[in-house]
Amino acid sequence: MHVVVLGAGVIGLATAWCLSRDGHRVTLVERNQGVALETSYANGGQLSYSYVAPLASPSVLPRLPPWLLSADAPLRFRPEADLQQWRFCLAFLLACTQKQADLTTRQLLALSFYSRALTRELVERESLDFAYARSGKLVVHSDATTHASACRLLDYQASLGCEQRALDADACVALEPALAHMRPLLAGGIHTPSEDAGDCYLFCVGMERLLRAAGATFLLGETVQRLRAEGGRVVAAETAQGAVEGDAYVLATGNRSVPLAREVGIRLPMYPLKGYSLTVPIADDAGAPRVSVTDYAQKVVYARLGESLRVAGMAEIAGHSADPDPKRIALLARQAASRFPGAGDYEGAHAWCGLRPATPKGPPVLGATPYPNLMLNVGHGALGFTLAMGSAQVVADLVAARTPVIPLDGFTLEPSR
Ligand SMILES: Cc1cc2nc3c(=O)[nH]c(=O)nc-3n(C[C@H](O)[C@H](O)[C@H](O)COP(=O)(O)OP(=O)(O)OC[C@H]3O[C@@H](n4cnc5c(N)ncnc54)[C@H](O)[C@@H]3O)c2cc1C
Repeated sequence: MHVVVLGAGVIGLATAWCLSRDGHRVTLVERNQGVALETSYANGGQLSYSYVAPLASPSVLPRLPPWLLSADAPLRFRPEADLQQWRFCLAFLLACTQKQADLTTRQLLALSFYSRALTRELVERESLDFAYARSGKLVVHSDATTHASACRLLDYQASLGCEQRALDADACVALEPALAHMRPLLAGGIHTPSEDAGDCYLFCVGMERLLRAAGATFLLGETVQRLRAEGGRVVAAETAQGAVEGDAYVLATGNRSVPLAREVGIRLPMYPLKGYSLTVPIADDAGAPRVSVTDYAQKVVYARLGESLRVAGMAEIAGHSADPDPKRIALLARQAASRFPGAGDYEGAHAWCGLRPATPKGPPVLGATPYPNLMLNVGHGALGFTLAMGSAQVVADLVAARTPVIPLDGFTLEPSR
């Protein structure tokens, strides 16, 4: 079969790889001149398999008012005259129940553990150079109350298959000596040794190389303007350069999937959540963490990617522009400098901004659409790198009419969408 994959971010590339291994002829259509130049470019680098709980949860509700009023909050909301934004916010608020949050967490853990197995298998089999490290993750708490509630969740997390342990402040510093500067603030941490990290952009570049070697075609610099549907099937992806025709199509255009799907009558429940990252060349090896660190209070993640420290955080419901706000970049630099002051020069760091393609409940939308030859692989929010291989395999299984290994409950396009 000839499968046309729309979008060459981490999701499109992983999908193309799984399809190619099934023996399909694969064509990728990407509007940029290179792969992974949008949201997959400089994300947090976390392969965060055990931390998949959705943002939509009852615990977030009391924190919304102070967050929305503070300029330094990790979450910001700028209202727009945009129905898509208001629909997303309403669905998000409705999803903030314990029942829905628990259900989503269980569904996402099944996908993320599957993804972990497939990513590790890929790394073992293929030569991919993307600063991959099985470094583990340490979530540090500066508030004893949040640490205590994280400790209370350990048994529940263990029942879902997560391997985690609680650490006191000294044990956090013993595990990650670069936290020494933060020691007076630390209440404790939760260590998950089975988490990995890597550079998503380099992963994508490596996947492009593997795909080209396997015979895949890349149509770079070609923007899909619309999908053409006839007789209940998609017959072409139209670009300014002409129609790209295949037997099947996979939509993996991140946030831009919404207008493309809308044109063929499919409403995707997605909205961009804007986030920021800094990439800091490491100046003092001992001052930068080796373990991936999440600062729970600031909602900032740190990952060592080779000779650099990647710092990422913030979520803004603030429209579709990926233009960076210098104030937010300065805030992220201050936050990072307060945690790991010796790691490098945060003022001179490479700053980046990206739009997470988020769904209100949290899970991505995978697989079937009303068109039998159009599949979705969209809406991975803050977890696209983590979930890429699992989601890709699920979609490849569906293209091949195989039953996916993980249940699809929670991941399919709802009729009302
Ligand atoms: C600040 C930040 C930190 C993050 N940290 C992490 C993390 O630590 N771990 C993690 O797992 N995830 C993280 N994420 C999320 C992750 O980066 C995303 O979920 C993931 O990159 C989404 O991949 P994608 O392929 O769906 O989208 P994209 O990377 O945006 O790819 C979509 C591609 O489609 C192309 N395209 C769009 N429209 C068209 C069109 N009309 N025609 C042709 N091509 C088109 C785009 O150019 C793009 O290349 C983070 C995100 C942000 C913003």
